[in-house]
Amino acid sequence: MSFRLPNKLVTTIVGSYPYFPEALKAFQLRKRRVRGSEYEELVKTAIRKTVEDYLSAGVDIVSDGEQRREDMAVFFAEELKGFEISEPVRIFDNVYYRKPVIVDDIEWTHEIVVEDWRYASSISRGRPVKVTLTGPYTMYSWSFDKHYGNMRNAILDLARALAREVEALVNAGAKYVQVDEPALSTRVEKEDVKLAGEALEIMVGKLSNVKRIMHVCYGKIERLFPEVLDYPIDQLDLETKNSEYRLLKLLREYSFDKELALGVVDVHSSRIETIEEIVDGIRKGLEIIPPDRLYVKPDCGLKRLKRETALAKLRNMVKAAEKAREELA
Ligand SMILES: [Zn+2]
Repeated sequence: MSFRLPNKLVTTIVGSYPYFPEALKAFQLRKRRVRGSEYEELVKTAIRKTVEDYLSAGVDIVSDGEQRREDMAVFFAEELKGFEISEPVRIFDNVYYRKPVIVDDIEWTHEIVVEDWRYASSISRGRPVKVTLTGPYTMYSWSFDKHYGNMRNAILDLARALAREVEALVNAGAKYVQVDEPALSTRVEKEDVKLAGEALEIMVGKLSNVKRIMHVCYGKIERLFPEVLDYPIDQLDLETKNSEYRLLKLLREYSFDKELALGVVDVHSSRIETIEEIVDGIRKGLEIIPPDRLYVKPDCGLKRLKRETALAKLRNMVKAAEKAREELA
């Protein structure tokens, strides 16, 4: 189809979108291990509605909204060999979490998100669909390890398993592959930062003609520097709006030369940022990164927002990117 990405300030999203009622119904079926045609139809409908919202807002690079995934770690643990899922454990008060438990060698046995990528691509009217995968470091951090007893061995096996999924996605035609590592900024040990880089090397290090992206958010992102500069990625996707763009200073200090996906709307606030406010954020990014390497997107996944709020934020974000492009012309 004839859609062409703008040559500067491309707009995109991080990955998740508020769940449509169909997705919530699908989660219930999945919990009862019912995964027939009704389940698949519900997931597809939720993906279709997500893509329609992105298109109506005018976002350039879209996603499947992660409508099949109730939880970003549990979902992949359910699909990879070597994991079991615990009964709900209490995290605090009345909040319960079913935690992935590693009980055997981790292996990839079948395609996990390829079909969702393919479906989203078939209805995106030529817009590229970015794939998001929960990274090995985060998968490990959010699991109990009853098998390896060694973080490094477990994470590298996770990376090898997820590399098989990446291979399947690339063979299907995916051009934008994003590894989500939110757990990485919650730790501070340099060893962990290096290990996450090794895992990325296994997952995406050898890819060409594919945009390799890593998303991190909140916490101590500055502790990833300078190692992250040598990660085998083309684009770093950061939460910057919520932390008032303080990371930009760091990028300047390190003469950051990869692409930057700049968070310009806060996903923890239901307030709709004004167009002018978002343009201001983009201008801050442009002080450090040239417009052909600067992507414009929300801080993080949108799933915790109400759908109307998420959509309104995306609409203003797209309008702000258009305005910023005009200013540059
Ligand atoms: Zn995030």
